[in-house]
Amino acid sequence: MARKGFSPLRTLLNCPPQADELAEAYCLHRLPESDSVQFEIHFLTCPDCSEVIESTKEFLASIRLALAGGGSGTEAEPRA
Ligand SMILES: [Zn+2]
Repeated sequence: MARKGFSPLRTLLNCPPQADELAEAYCLHRLPESDSVQFEIHFLTCPDCSEVIESTKEFLASIRLALAGGGSGTEAEPRA
């Protein structure tokens, strides 16, 4: 699995200029379906962009955790 040169696919499917923004929009399902499918095909064949997707997912998950489980308990605490 050594990185020798690059596959022909890499030259056909160039990375989008703002891969991180695309990845974020993709993870948030904000991309139009055609863009979403295109980007999906790209990052499935592109190690760089799949890494961007992974870190974006982790980032979004950590934000969600922070928003959801602040632990303040002020939201729906049943108190008599
Ligand atoms: Zn790429």
